[in-house]
Amino acid sequence: MKILKNNWFMLKWIYQYTPGFFFATIAEGLVWGCIHSFTSVLFIKMLFDRIESAAPFEQIVSVIGGMAVFLVLAYIFHEWYWKFLEPKAEQELHSQMQQTLFKKAIAMDLACYDNPEFYNDFVWAVREADRRAIAVAKEFGKVINRGFSSLVIISVLFTVDPIIVGVICVAVGISVAIRLWQTKLQFHKEEEIRPIQRKTNYVNRTFYLADYAKELRMSNAGELLHRHYDHAVENIVNIHQKFAPKLFIAGLLRSVAVSTLFDVGILLLLVYKISVQKTITLGDFAASLSATWKLFRQIQDLMARLAKFKEHSLYTEKFRAFLEYQITVQDSSSAKALEAPLNEISFQNVSFAYPEASHPTLKNLTFVIPKYRKIAIVGPNGAGKTTLIKLITRMYNPTEGEIRINGVPVSEYTIHSVREKIGITFQDYKIYATSVAENILMDLFSKEDEPALQHSLAISGFSEKVASLPDGLKTELTREFHPKGTVLSGGEQQRIAVSRAFARDYDLIILDEPSAALDPVIEYELNRKLDETITNKTVILISHRLSTVCMADEIFMMENGQIVERGTHGELMRLNGKYAEMFRIQAEKYHQEENYETKNI
Ligand code: ADP
Repeated sequence: MKILKNNWFMLKWIYQYTPGFFFATIAEGLVWGCIHSFTSVLFIKMLFDRIESAAPFEQIVSVIGGMAVFLVLAYIFHEWYWKFLEPKAEQELHSQMQQTLFKKAIAMDLACYDNPEFYNDFVWAVREADRRAIAVAKEFGKVINRGFSSLVIISVLFTVDPIIVGVICVAVGISVAIRLWQTKLQFHKEEEIRPIQRKTNYVNRTFYLADYAKELRMSNAGELLHRHYDHAVENIVNIHQKFAPKLFIAGLLRSVAVSTLFDVGILLLLVYKISVQKTITLGDFAASLSATWKLFRQIQDLMARLAKFKEHSLYTEKFRAFLEYQITVQDSSSAKALEAPLNEISFQNVSFAYPEASHPTLKNLTFVIPKYRKIAIVGPNGAGKTTLIKLITRMYNPTEGEIRINGVPVSEYTIHSVREKIGITFQDYKIYATSVAENILMDLFSKEDEPALQHSLAISGFSEKVASLPDGLKTELTREFHPKGTVLSGGEQQRIAVSRAFARDYDLIILDEPSAALDPVIEYELNRKLDETITNKTVILISHRLSTVCMADEIFMMENGQIVERGTHGELMRLNGKYAEMFRIQAEKYHQEENYETKNI
């Protein structure tokens, strides 16, 4: 039932997006079914019957001519279907499905990415989507073809001798039972292999992805991964070995016991009928012999196709689960767009725990960030600084408490309208294989965007470098698609990422560790510009280098998901608490480095 439902779901998609292809697939199935049944049964029977009854030569020729015309027309349709229609439909289906999947993926809760099982299914659904849809369509066509031709052949055989049909039914029954056993064995085998294969796939990936290339060259990680790989392969081989004896017996039973005995049995029965009983004509004999062989293989193939539907169903289920997943961070029905500027953000007793986490990452936070304030968030690794940003940008909902924007609960605004007003540089930003301009705008570039781009580049201190690139703003980044694409250093990439936060007239700027890869001079410049030029925007800056946050109007010192101290740099130094301690340690380290350098000049 589930198999039927899932495949029906997929067929409905195919019908919805490519109705022409859907009907043509049915027609192709019927046409091919006619070819199978006519050539192997009806045509032979008509021919032999006419020869036996000494029909006039013209009549026999007309039967052959009719068959030839039918075949030519059928082949024309068949070629048109595969050469013109199918490739086009495949692309259309591909594009429609990917669009739907991309839309859903972007709206998906970020929490889904933290769940490895869901993430695997999601990646699988996206990767397999179009391939499976087209496979279901093809399988559907083949089932119509095999089903239709089997029906025609059975009806012809029934007129010759119902016993033959009975024998075929018994043989098919046995064959189906063995096939079901085979499918079950195969399924269990794959189920055991799949998790191990994930490991081999992971190792494969690490060897060709650029992210790992440097570390693999500089360490023994390659060797280590290879060991894991070998171990996984060994396990896979063992699983194959474990299932091999049963699969061997099943295969042998089906091919030798059923096929051979069946073929020989039917042959004996027909020979007995024509030569001993003399109850069938030569036409019946020839047609029945050809028909039974054809029919048996057709039905076996039909069963194989039906088994394939089980596999498609398994996939479709994941695909459906992905599409039907109820997103938790989404607009409520009463949500309205945030039209006014994003002026004030407040947290009221906000706590947050990641799904499946044993304790909360943020604990009972209460604060207000007024308009145009520059707030710095500092604290040790894992204090919850980035998580706080994820809540402001609505990647997650708080587990407890309320976030307000301009005094209104954030859930009353549409997510998009809030995000639109935030310019952000993520700590783990990504550079895309597109132009410099599009990498900064994160959108298509047009001439009118140029002043805003130049402004953002001036803030990140990257204008000169961009001007020196071969195509300026239009220079392609990465070598993904262009062999002469520009590859930027870590610090340069970070300046592109920082520019993003200033490329539009955002109300709130969030910079999460914007200077981690910057050299001190550029970092100093960036801070100076933030302080002097960004006067009409609210800024939230996360940094572990305390020297960069002195200019902030207020500093939140976070530890274990709580704000343990807050105030200006001066106030916190006078408080002489955690912030002051951290600041002194960093300053001391800096002086030590300075003395070391002076001594070594
Ligand atoms: P910070 O930015 O202060 O270094 P984070 O906000 O990134 O800290 O992380 C705070 C804590 O939350 C860490 O202990 C981290 O392990 C945990 N954490 C971060 N992201 C996730 C996640 N997606 N799922 C579960 N725990 C997470």
